[in-house]
Amino acid sequence: MQKNYMSLLVIGSVAFDAIETPFGKTDKIIGGAATYICLSASYFTRDIGLVAVVGEDFPQEYIGILEQKGVDIGGLQVKQGEKSFFWSGRYFNDMNSRETLVTELNVLGTFDPVVPSNLDQPDFLMLGNLAPSVQSTVIGRLAKRPKLIVMDTMNFWMDIALDDLKNTLKMVDVLTINDEEARQLSGEYSLVKAARKIRAMGPKYLIIKKGEHGAILFYNDEVFYCPAMLLEEVFDPTGAGDTFAGGFIGYLAKTGDISFDNMKRAIYYGSALASFCVEKFGTENILDIDPKALIERVAKFKALSHVELID
Ligand code: AMP
Repeated sequence: MQKNYMSLLVIGSVAFDAIETPFGKTDKIIGGAATYICLSASYFTRDIGLVAVVGEDFPQEYIGILEQKGVDIGGLQVKQGEKSFFWSGRYFNDMNSRETLVTELNVLGTFDPVVPSNLDQPDFLMLGNLAPSVQSTVIGRLAKRPKLIVMDTMNFWMDIALDDLKNTLKMVDVLTINDEEARQLSGEYSLVKAARKIRAMGPKYLIIKKGEHGAILFYNDEVFYCPAMLLEEVFDPTGAGDTFAGGFIGYLAKTGDISFDNMKRAIYYGSALASFCVEKFGTENILDIDPKALIERVAKFKALSHVELID
């Protein structure tokens, strides 16, 4: 009998990116939020479905790479005669802040997501960076509400689609966002106050990503902080947030446990994967991580901040 659900459904951009960092510059390379999320989540589950759109310019070999990782691409539309989403960004010297140089929505401008029937009952839904109206449309097109909905977004959508964004926020369980965006969304500088205001907009859980300073999980009155790996070289932070999100939800989907304690563990795995991502340009370093290296990195993370306190 055919299985009529997937444990994890991912939506988000599948794109071309052009990146400038103090260490170099790329021409158009493969990127997009959903690309990073799927690659990262594939280290935990091979039960992934993708709903996204690309133009006819998108190389088939990259779609093949996602398929090899166990991603069901039945919901990936290829628009003939149209161009894929294109984003270009430049990082400043500290590598923690960046500016967007170009956002060409192309196929994303008219994206009407179609969720195939074998993907419409996921246990976990990851709403990667995309127009918030598309994110909410996908929720509405599912046959049942997933066990957990995680959403990512960025300043671009706050600038041009704030009302849609606030509407989608009401439907999700977890929001991942970076510190600058949390401040923009809430109008508060203090991240504690920002977290309170954002959680009042809908998501019970909020993860604020602070780049090289780690990530903070807020839930009720509880706060959990996970540092970022201290790396000798950060080459390109593009996709780190999406790789984090993919590892986070992939781990939750693998374990099936959405308790606060398990989310803490998921943040460690997400952070470990993100630390691989930033060591090379684009998706290069997360295409084929040695499972042993991943385990070692998670262990290093634990050692970085763990201590038994003796009275
Ligand atoms: P991150 O560095 O994790 O914030 O994500 C970088 C990825 O987000 C890049 O691969 C881009 O293609 C993608 N991206 C940038 N802007 C947007 C946007 N407005 N909508 C959807 N995806 C975007």
